[in-house]
Amino acid sequence: MYDLIVVGGGPAGLTATIYAIRKRLNVLMVAKDLGGKTQWRLALPWIEDYQVIRGLEIINKFKSELEYLDFARHMEAVEKVTRDGPNFSVHTAGGGELKAKAVIIATGTRQMRMRVPGEKEFMMKGLCYSALSYAPLFIDRTTIVVGDGSLAMRSAAELSTIAKKVYVVCATDKAFSTAIGQKVVHSPNVTILKGHEVVEVKGDQYARSAVLKDPGGATSELAADAIFVEMALMPNSQMVADLVKLDENGEIVVDCGNRTNIPGIFAAGDVTSGFAEQVLIAVGEGAKAALSAYEYLLPQL
Ligand SMILES: Cc1cc2nc3c(=O)[nH]c(=O)nc-3n(C[C@H](O)[C@H](O)[C@H](O)COP(=O)(O)OP(=O)(O)OC[C@H]3O[C@@H](n4cnc5c(N)ncnc54)[C@H](O)[C@@H]3O)c2cc1C
Repeated sequence: MYDLIVVGGGPAGLTATIYAIRKRLNVLMVAKDLGGKTQWRLALPWIEDYQVIRGLEIINKFKSELEYLDFARHMEAVEKVTRDGPNFSVHTAGGGELKAKAVIIATGTRQMRMRVPGEKEFMMKGLCYSALSYAPLFIDRTTIVVGDGSLAMRSAAELSTIAKKVYVVCATDKAFSTAIGQKVVHSPNVTILKGHEVVEVKGDQYARSAVLKDPGGATSELAADAIFVEMALMPNSQMVADLVKLDENGEIVVDCGNRTNIPGIFAAGDVTSGFAEQVLIAVGEGAKAALSAYEYLLPQL
């Protein structure tokens, strides 16, 4: 029986695990990889990607500590977390069952993909899923934002303040009535291509254009310096979906100490209802979740 199991090896999970080790908890991190989405860096022809991600040094330090402390990590996917009296069982993809007095879920999100030719080939080579992280690099550039929800509106609005030109390729106009949607509609450098869809991404070393299909079925090619696919971020919260409270987007609802509504289960990083998906925010949430778990466990230690 572990004191604590941390599910996820991205910035939130790594930080939570290192904090728990420092508190001398008997902790196990269970994850599919070490580093999570910090391994995703957008390559652009005119910029050094290392200038972008803040907090990478600390993540790499925690990662190498855990590579060394092999007793504290188990590399496997988790399928489900169940309650077992006052304790919890973590069920892995290979059929294993690991038991703990407390659990931290730090499994991040996955991006909704277009699933068109060229998307995989140019992923992170001019085609990206995080305008929140990269928009400031697009001064005087031409960009395409794909999506029609709040994430796409936010991305297009931010890019419209920086880029020379923003094309919004959207199936519907469902989010244009919001304040940010109105900002997009009224920005002179934004062109909205409603009812259009991307059918292919083309390029050389980097994505250079999107092939669009208009509502009448005709296709055309639109050149850009980058394509931002901002259709949706889907939280990896299925494993606890029938255990803890989720919000309408499927994010785990946490309080300011990263506690869920179930005592003994904590959550941190992009998988939570907390604000903004950024490495340093995930690091802070991982630290808070570990300290909250420690407070929870202290009477039993
Ligand atoms: C393309 C892109 C570029 C970005 N660039 C930046 C940037 O420049 N700067 C910045 O601050 N932020 C950036 N971000 C955001 C940043 O990467 C995230 O906010 C951060 O990684 C979130 O950390 P996390 O630990 O919550 O989740 P993640 O980094 O997503 O880590 C989740 C972890 O959980 C594991 N996991 C998931 N499901 C399971 C399961 N079922 N079982 C076991 N393990 C599981 C994963 O394997 C992974 O180890 C970017 C995001 C994207 C998508």
